[in-house]
Amino acid sequence: MTIAAIITAPGEAAISAIRISGPESWAIAKKITNKNFQEKQVELAWIKKASEKLDQVIIIPFKKPHSFTGEDVIEIHSHGGFICVNKILELVLENGARLAKPGEFSEQAVLNGKMDLVQAEAIHDLITAKTDLARKNAIEIYKGELGNEIKELRESLLGLLGAITASIDFPDEVGDYDKDLYINSVQACISNIDKVLETEKQGEILRQGYKVAIIGKPNAGKSTLLNTLLKKDRAIVTEIEGTTRDSIEEFYNLDGFPIVLIDTAGIRESEDRIEKIGIEKSHEIADQADLILELIDLSQASNEVQRNDSIKIGTKADLETQTQIKTELNISANQNQNIDALKELLKKHINLKAGSQANVKINQRQADLLRQSKSALKQSLEATHLSEDFWTIDLRNAIGHLGEITGESLTEELLDNIFSRFCIGK
Ligand code: GDP
Repeated sequence: MTIAAIITAPGEAAISAIRISGPESWAIAKKITNKNFQEKQVELAWIKKASEKLDQVIIIPFKKPHSFTGEDVIEIHSHGGFICVNKILELVLENGARLAKPGEFSEQAVLNGKMDLVQAEAIHDLITAKTDLARKNAIEIYKGELGNEIKELRESLLGLLGAITASIDFPDEVGDYDKDLYINSVQACISNIDKVLETEKQGEILRQGYKVAIIGKPNAGKSTLLNTLLKKDRAIVTEIEGTTRDSIEEFYNLDGFPIVLIDTAGIRESEDRIEKIGIEKSHEIADQADLILELIDLSQASNEVQRNDSIKIGTKADLETQTQIKTELNISANQNQNIDALKELLKKHINLKAGSQANVKINQRQADLLRQSKSALKQSLEATHLSEDFWTIDLRNAIGHLGEITGESLTEELLDNIFSRFCIGK
């Protein structure tokens, strides 16, 4: 099947691109241009619908397997914007291609062995990276480090399975498998899995951001702090749909760590009932955060402490202190006092929480499968008092889960699940 889709973001730009991938791609290109192409020879061509010239484009032809997808591929670079590229796509579809599903180009690439599943996910990470650290992690995974590590683990278990199966099938020639050796090998594998699993939290932070909730009484200085932080270091600012109407979420690049700052603004004092709802909502947001910064206005005497799992930051340090509350750090967002110290404090907490210094940080799907593999290995260890046949049942499961990470054991459900999260054109 030949598939096609626009692979550039919609909008006005110098160029937009379409990818056609599959056995008919070259024939389609010929039909819509009346030109013959040679592998990797860039051609300037007119796209024609009957006698009408739709656009002048650049065409890059790739021959199977030397393409992104591993199929015959034609890339058409048209003038940018909405109309040209969509007209050309329509024509491509009329001539025999079907619209690619989300992630289908990457899926073809995995099925054709151009990359493993972990690398395909890394491309997604790369495209959605919000800071340079996130980009670096994605590139390391794309280079193959994580995939290779998982494949090595899987191969060592396959070796073990092979040896045990041999001793079951040919007891006279091979003899019983040494139980202690088996236990040691499985335990070594479990500790390797644990090492990779340690990177999960940092992976989540790099991909989704470290959630910092800023809570405090009205006028504590929450918005001022948010603005002060964002003003200087705003990298990519996206308004994310808030968990509640009353909170504002902003991306903040803290030396490469993507932080999601959540300003629990909107607690209004007009009516007690409403304020109560607002406070409840702030608590809900704080419950889901990785870190809670509680701002305490030092210039006010009465400042209820809202929760004891927060880091207390005194604000308005430029004014006379009226409160007895103990704080970890005092700042003045207005006067830019101690803002750098606050950033250091944030970084310290992220490093504590993130833990591992490993090179690559896994995502949640990979972590879930590693956990499943680990628990199968543990079950296999529990079966070692039984005959060797019983060890291998869970060992096979453990191998299967590792294979799902890299795509060596692929099911249609697994593929659908992963690639449907990509967008069309990837
Ligand atoms: P929020 O309701 O917690 O978001 O508080 P705001 O950020 O809106 O601040 C409330 C008031 O305190 C505003 O008038 C700010 O200008 C003022 N304020 C905030 N930070 C400081 C500070 O560091 N020093 C002084 N003197 N005033 C501040």
